[in-house]
Amino acid sequence: MADQIKYTLTEQDMPKSWYNIMADLPSPLPAVLHPGTGQPVGPADLAPLFPMEIIKQEVSGERWIDIPDPVRQIYFQWRPTPLYRARRLERALDTPARIYYKYEGVSPSGSHKPNTAVPQAFYNKQEGVKRITTETGAGQWGSSLAFAGSLFGIEIDVYMVKVSFQQKPYRRALMESYGARCVASPSTETNSGRAVLAQNPDSTGSLGIAISEAVEMAAQRDDTKYALGSVLNHVLMHQTVLGLEAKRQMEMAGDDPDVIVGCTGGGSNFAGIAFPYLGEQLRGGRKRRIVAVEPAACPSLTRGKYAYDFGDTSKLTPLVKMHTLGSSFVPPGFHAGGLRYHGMAPQVSHVKELGLIEAKAYHQLACFEAGVQFARAEGIVPAPEANHAVRGAIDEALRCKREGKSEVILFNLCGHGHFDMQAYIDYFGGKLKDLDYDAKELAMALAGLPSVAAE
Ligand SMILES: *Cc1c(COP(=O)(O)O)cnc(C)c1O
Repeated sequence: MADQIKYTLTEQDMPKSWYNIMADLPSPLPAVLHPGTGQPVGPADLAPLFPMEIIKQEVSGERWIDIPDPVRQIYFQWRPTPLYRARRLERALDTPARIYYKYEGVSPSGSHKPNTAVPQAFYNKQEGVKRITTETGAGQWGSSLAFAGSLFGIEIDVYMVKVSFQQKPYRRALMESYGARCVASPSTETNSGRAVLAQNPDSTGSLGIAISEAVEMAAQRDDTKYALGSVLNHVLMHQTVLGLEAKRQMEMAGDDPDVIVGCTGGGSNFAGIAFPYLGEQLRGGRKRRIVAVEPAACPSLTRGKYAYDFGDTSKLTPLVKMHTLGSSFVPPGFHAGGLRYHGMAPQVSHVKELGLIEAKAYHQLACFEAGVQFARAEGIVPAPEANHAVRGAIDEALRCKREGKSEVILFNLCGHGHFDMQAYIDYFGGKLKDLDYDAKELAMALAGLPSVAAE
């Protein structure tokens, strides 16, 4: 039998709709609140920031939402993506478990993010938008939106967290290759950026600050909107294309996952792999274990509070109920930049509160160790974010070995690490350390959570 088995779908097998978990949740999501009034927001409140079709999807209760044909045509460039049975990894671990992974690194920007960047750019184009502003941490989202903007002739302005801007010049070059403008955040272009710099001229930035800058710029101009690469309902829904594919591929393989693992920054790739399965369970189907893996240095699901909070540092965004470390929390500079967000998607937070998923936190050294073991067995170097999912999956496989169980493990390999080799250089050079968040800072950030009458 082949060492590594690949399950491929044809174009005809690619899903024609995204799956919306709102249709199947046992209790509704808490309302999104206006930051000024504390009242639930309506579509009109969001209209300055998002195109109407995106707003409709954000609040939709429809179970299936059609993927527009022009979006499917673009998806075909790299979708359906492959699913692999990791037999060489199984052998290296000497585990009776069967390990499968969905590989999203085959997209043009190297991760799952174009799955939502493309439809978001498409809906903006349909509604006449000329420019989209956004933020990016490690640069995965910025480069994915830059790619999507280039397809539709939309200008893309990316506010990139300053520490990453300095550490990851290749990601910046990739965004510029696609024609986007990339600005180090905090910048002097916005009130939010200037306010942060006035307090701390050496600020290395955070996703929360970069979001403030991007939102501020979009709110000022009629021809400009804002796009978010994670956290929001419509983003998670767009990512279900990968889970729906994986489900069919697992059927082709004749196996059914007992455990599903994904890494969580804002929650979108995790929801992508997990929600199609969770939806089946909520409709009376099989119950499977679903495990979210996050960094111990930014542990929103395992250490955060489930509370209303802002999505950004300057408190410009609506209030959403989520697991949060506080919108002023700045995580230490560990290498999985895509996982350095203070909050978790409201939908992921909600299913965690309902006990439908588990969450685990790992330090970065253990994750890089798993990523290197994976690369040596399977030939793919995972993104530092994806290493968290790899660690989670390997630990499940090792548990199966101890317990003598031949369970089936499915995880999402959400991106490759080709732009993150500095992190691997640091790891091999012994320079990578396990960072802990500052407990005092966390306590302060949590104490600063907004008080909300609706709670
Ligand atoms: C952005 C990113 C993440 C984190 O975002 P989620 O919304 O939690 O998926 C994880 N992995 C990769 C490769 C990313 O680019």
